[in-house]
Amino acid sequence: MDACELSVIIPARNEAAHLSSSIQRIVAAVERATPSYEIILVDDGSSDSTWAEILRIASACPRLRGFRLARRYGKEAALSAGLEVCRGRAALTMDADLQHPVELIEQFYRVWKERRVQVVHGVKQDLGRDPIHRRLLSRGFNYVASRLSGVDLRSSADFKLLDRQVVDAWLTLPERRTFYRGMVAWLGFQAVEIPFTVEPRIQGRSQFGLGSLIRFGWYALTSYSYFPLRLIHILAAVFLAFSFILGSWALFLKFSGAAVSGFTTVIILQLMIGGALLLSLALIAEYLAAIYEEVKRRPRYVIAEIARPDQ
Ligand code: UDP
Ligand code: MG
Repeated sequence: MDACELSVIIPARNEAAHLSSSIQRIVAAVERATPSYEIILVDDGSSDSTWAEILRIASACPRLRGFRLARRYGKEAALSAGLEVCRGRAALTMDADLQHPVELIEQFYRVWKERRVQVVHGVKQDLGRDPIHRRLLSRGFNYVASRLSGVDLRSSADFKLLDRQVVDAWLTLPERRTFYRGMVAWLGFQAVEIPFTVEPRIQGRSQFGLGSLIRFGWYALTSYSYFPLRLIHILAAVFLAFSFILGSWALFLKFSGAAVSGFTTVIILQLMIGGALLLSLALIAEYLAAIYEEVKRRPRYVIAEIARPDQ
């Protein structure tokens, strides 16, 4: 298939149960926007029959291309794969579970087409019926990451439409550890925001547990901010001031004949200094690990199989 107007990129992991009906709804919505489109489904190493479903849907829908990653590389890598293979003059990224309302596809497309903007951001209005701890975590994470990184990530989502120019610019960003929303925000370009309400998941459950959300947050933070490293400077300054005051006081007491009493002070000081040192080391280690991952320069994903490789 040659270039088209719109590529719709959908990462999917273990979505077999509803994939066929979800894709049907997505295709119907895309067709209301433009007849010139392609659907790109990226199977992120599913352990259910998602790939078989993709093959089945692809055989009936010539505008669909499927890519199976060799294992679970994560949603970020799946999005990256989709952006790399898409051929549209614009690319729209959305979830397979219909949490991103399909009715907005046409609006995204029109805004891009008619207002000549390069990015259309879907902005979460509220987090729908997600459980309270997820909403709090997601709010908290977005708030902290936005403040620290200087990139506004609050209420941001992976539901976006990018002009070809932005897709090409995005693809030049070389990091291994990608963070789609942050990177799009970092690129800039003329953007419009369209609010949407997060729909409940159509079926199944979220692939992101609490652990992966925290890891994801930490990745985003370390990729976008040096604040944790600067924390070490602050820690050093506080300890220096503290040691100056406490040291002068101890010397004063010693020369005035009443030395600081004891063991407790020494232990407390030891523990505080030890703790601060280990914390600093841990922060440095995190950045070291991130650098290590980057310098290996491994690909972000490996494609194992393609449905419709002929196209
Ligand atoms: N997903 C993926 N790889 C993963 C986790 C999720 O490709 O490791 C896909 C998933 O199939 C869905 C989208 O990313 O299309 C969003 O995932 P999910 O609904 O689990 O996340 P949430 O909506 O809770 O953010
Ligand atoms: Mg979801």
